[in-house]
Amino acid sequence: MKYSNCFAKTSKMAPADADSANAKFLVQAGFVDQTMAGVYTWLPFGLSVLRKVEQIVREEMNALGALEIFMPSLHPKEFWEATNRWDNVGFHFKTHSQTDKDYALGASHEEVVTPLVKKFIESYKSLPFATYQINTKFRDELRAKSGVLRGREFRMKDMYSFHTNQEDLSAFYQKTLEAYVRAYNRCGLNVKVAEASGGVFTKNMSHEFQALTDAGEDTILACSKCEFGQNVEVATVKDGDACPKCGSSIVTVKGIEIGNIFDLGTKYSDAFDLNFTDENGERKKVLMGCYGIGTSRLVGAIVEACHDEKGMIWPKSVAPFQVHLVTLNSKDDAVRENIMGTADDLVRDLEAQGVEVLWDDREDVSPGAKFADADLIGAPLRVIVSEKSLKEESVEWKERAGTESRLVKLADVLEEIKEFVK
Ligand code: ATP
Ligand code: MG
Repeated sequence: MKYSNCFAKTSKMAPADADSANAKFLVQAGFVDQTMAGVYTWLPFGLSVLRKVEQIVREEMNALGALEIFMPSLHPKEFWEATNRWDNVGFHFKTHSQTDKDYALGASHEEVVTPLVKKFIESYKSLPFATYQINTKFRDELRAKSGVLRGREFRMKDMYSFHTNQEDLSAFYQKTLEAYVRAYNRCGLNVKVAEASGGVFTKNMSHEFQALTDAGEDTILACSKCEFGQNVEVATVKDGDACPKCGSSIVTVKGIEIGNIFDLGTKYSDAFDLNFTDENGERKKVLMGCYGIGTSRLVGAIVEACHDEKGMIWPKSVAPFQVHLVTLNSKDDAVRENIMGTADDLVRDLEAQGVEVLWDDREDVSPGAKFADADLIGAPLRVIVSEKSLKEESVEWKERAGTESRLVKLADVLEEIKEFVK
């Protein structure tokens, strides 16, 4: 991809109201654009990251045997009345039609998935199973803030599981908890798994997944070593205690909730009369679990955890592209042709190998401005082709996360990059 073809450019100025690293860098680097408070357009670079994050999450849900679906965002009022959540939950955006009907914009999908699966479940033979979607959610947040961390329209993966008995639900819940940790680790984040109260959903078991960064809204009592954590609101441990899991010390830290899982029991099965016939012909209530990951918030959390004063530092697994190729201009026509020709060949060879490259091909921009953009955008590897490097038949190699740069021979660069992006 040539930078000169990208319509969404970087900006020298951070947005005036940026209250966090992600609000600043994602906008400044042209990854997202704010339409209004809490509502964003995902521009090409940002969309690439979001898709990679969502693909990692999708792979982990598929590995659990869950099947992907896509549910509507426009919900009938009756479904939300059935669970007493039409009037009692403040987070709804509601809308009224020309034919005098009320609808909710999907803030969550228990009210859609439960009547949906009711059409398919007959006996214990239909169970267990799990289904999920990755979709846009709408919530009337009182205060949208911290860039994509708290939006009024945002992305979420939500999975729902259906079981005949508690043991089966608990076993699937535990497997999902482990899959969540794998998904976050693959996105380059360490998380703490905090026991939580069930909020408006349930009084049953619930866990939150917390990415530790100072931008977090939640206060977590977390083990300094293992995954153990507790939200301060429900905590049974205190700062300085020994971790009940591994014995290391508990510290107080800030966290961003990037996922939440719930044992729903029969809450929604009761509301929608979701039953199955067991082996003895008896009708029983289906047990449910629900499992959410805020995928757009996850992108913001990665920025909060992976940046410096110059910009973002994307983990390879979710970077919009692996290589940021910078060509530096020369006044000498023959040299300039050589630089552009070398870059053109390298981009073609890399793309043929499936390596994603952003080529900053602008000829009217200073080296300093190009390097500042590369640091802001945060691709894992910067490769410079210049008059100086070509004198050595080389390119200059600089990793975003490191400080040193070095020359790599043109003859070796393809292999070295392939090794680097593995
Ligand atoms: P919070 O406590 O942060 O308001 P929540 O507990 O209400 O979130 P859940 O209903 O558990 O949210 O939703 C599942 C996941 O969706 C959350 O763990 C979070 O990652 C994400 N999420 C929730 N609200 C928002 C939002 N307003 N903007 C972006 N992501 C969100
Ligand atoms: Mg939650």
